[in-house]
Amino acid sequence: MQPTLPASPIPATQPDRATVRPERWQRELAEAIRDPRELCRMLGLDERLAETVGQPAAPFPLLVPRAFAARMRRGDPRDPLLLQVLPQAVEDEPVAGFVADPLQEADVLAAPGLVRKYAGRALLLVTGGCAVHCRYCFRREFPYASSGATRRGVDAALDAIADDPDVAEVILSGGDPLLADDAHLAEIVERLDALPHVRRLRIHTRLPVVLPARVNDGLLDVLAGSRLARIVVVHANHPAELDDSVADALRRLAALPCTLLNQAVLLAGVNDSADVLRLLSERLVEMGVVPYYLHMLDRVRGAAHFEVPEARARELHGALRDTLPGYAVPRLAREVPGAAAKVWLA
Ligand SMILES: *Cc1c(COP(=O)(O)O)cnc(C)c1O
Ligand code: SF4
Repeated sequence: MQPTLPASPIPATQPDRATVRPERWQRELAEAIRDPRELCRMLGLDERLAETVGQPAAPFPLLVPRAFAARMRRGDPRDPLLLQVLPQAVEDEPVAGFVADPLQEADVLAAPGLVRKYAGRALLLVTGGCAVHCRYCFRREFPYASSGATRRGVDAALDAIADDPDVAEVILSGGDPLLADDAHLAEIVERLDALPHVRRLRIHTRLPVVLPARVNDGLLDVLAGSRLARIVVVHANHPAELDDSVADALRRLAALPCTLLNQAVLLAGVNDSADVLRLLSERLVEMGVVPYYLHMLDRVRGAAHFEVPEARARELHGALRDTLPGYAVPRLAREVPGAAAKVWLA
């Protein structure tokens, strides 16, 4: 609250107020849906569906931007976008093999905020937050607070990258790194630009899909100003996620220029069908995005109901190989703790 605000609207010309005004994407994020009952009501679903959810685990409650919820089918409790975000009672049932930190990332932090697992690449945890809470996320229980995904952690991570000539590619990750504001991103990019051994900037983000307003002029300016080769890896799992607003955000990124890739997670009930996966690849390609990875689910606690058996995954992947151009077939991959790279299953 700002008790000194005048009763009348602030004139748009007042410069100091104008500069603190949140951006449109920040307002959309503030207005994101956080109440499962509200989401069910919006979709014309029985609110009791939300009540079967019980109390969503406190650190990972429902969160979904309205722009994403608007793409869900009304009246369909099995909608593939809804299933990705609506907390379910089955999440609370313990299942053997599904654990809090399946990738053991807490063990591979090279510095606070820096995950150094693969040759030549370093993954920088820019923020702990996301604009959407995907129920299958392997980071749903990741200890961000102690992992260094803070401003101070990012500084320490940048120092570590400066001291490591083997890092040619820096991957901004999180959480969702594009939740950092333009000024913070500009600072990070400026520091990386000054390190001669760093040549590529990769951003792993779901925002162009779930909150396309994030791809604003400020962000494009930050990226356009960098000397680094740019790669943006977005995350869409189902063709219905890709509407015109997403296509527009992707076009703006591609115009930088910037290489666009997608990673999807194979999810039971969401995209475990050859037709859905084929349509996802086709739409991506037509929007200028190369399907990069189709990930096997990481075995995080609470996500067991999304698991697709490996034999079925190989079968689905085979169906894609048989019917799509080679460049439209994503690599089927699994992350194995301790391995030198992601393991390609096909
Ligand atoms: C996935 C991942 C990368 C990047 O792997 P690519 O195969 O290059 O996409 C790098 N670091 C970590 C920790 C990762 O999980
Ligand atoms: S956007 Fe990515 S990091 Fe965030 S909750 Fe979803 S899967 Fe996890």
